[in-house]
Amino acid sequence: MTEAPPRVLTIAGSDSGGGAGIQADLRTLFACGVHGCVALTAVTVQNSLGVTGVSEIPADVVAAQIVSVAEDIGVQAAKTGMLASAQIIEAITPALDRVGIGAGKTPLVVDPVSASMHGNPLLADNALDALRGLLFPRATLVTPNLDEVRLITGIAVKDREDQRVAAKALHAMGPEWVLVKGGHMWDDPECLDLLYDGQEFIELPGPRYDTEHTHGSGDTLASSISSALARGASVPEAVRFGKEFIVRSVATAYPLGAGSGPVSPFW
Ligand code: PLP
Repeated sequence: MTEAPPRVLTIAGSDSGGGAGIQADLRTLFACGVHGCVALTAVTVQNSLGVTGVSEIPADVVAAQIVSVAEDIGVQAAKTGMLASAQIIEAITPALDRVGIGAGKTPLVVDPVSASMHGNPLLADNALDALRGLLFPRATLVTPNLDEVRLITGIAVKDREDQRVAAKALHAMGPEWVLVKGGHMWDDPECLDLLYDGQEFIELPGPRYDTEHTHGSGDTLASSISSALARGASVPEAVRFGKEFIVRSVATAYPLGAGSGPVSPFW
């Protein structure tokens, strides 16, 4: 028998194509040497071309999964991905409080997933208030891409100066740290992610690869960051680790089906 590895709980949806969602989370967590647990929020009918159906898990069942896992197995970090609805966000908030996830206790990474890369909605329009009002103030780190930044703050980021303005607006919503991902700043030759804690900006530059195979990249980044937090890393250390992990995963992404293939855990 060996000692149990750190545990990370992912609160997220399933991608039947195996590219994003809990499938990306679990393989990333495995690759990072931690044990992944799941509170499933929704089942998506999905392939490389997009999402054609969504079936939500009842909100009380999502909350019960969190409590069940945390009270027995114990988690050292948690992350949220596709949360689907306001009802699910409202149900998981007291569950997180009950088991001490977020709000300065066990680290909580909130990846505010709102749509797939093909534009299919993964979060109801009326759930944004719950995301901002309930989850952001409890988050150790929020990791929006620029489409999510626009939805959440109304700021359309066009350059690195806007990225700083957006980071300040997001930080004012209550998370300890904000990571504004620059991958969707399409005419920037680099992918520059910006980390901010209300005082200091930390720039994380990285290469931009000319590929359409980036499915699951947001989930993979947030999961790798969560694995490092579960091992006790500071937020800047964990984000640097996640950035290295995602750069290598995009570099080795592979085609699948007729559409967008996933970033790869095989280096
Ligand atoms: N499907 C599920 C279940 C997801 O959680 C996500 C992202 O978090 C996606 C699809 C979208 O991934 P992408 O934007 O890389 O297509």
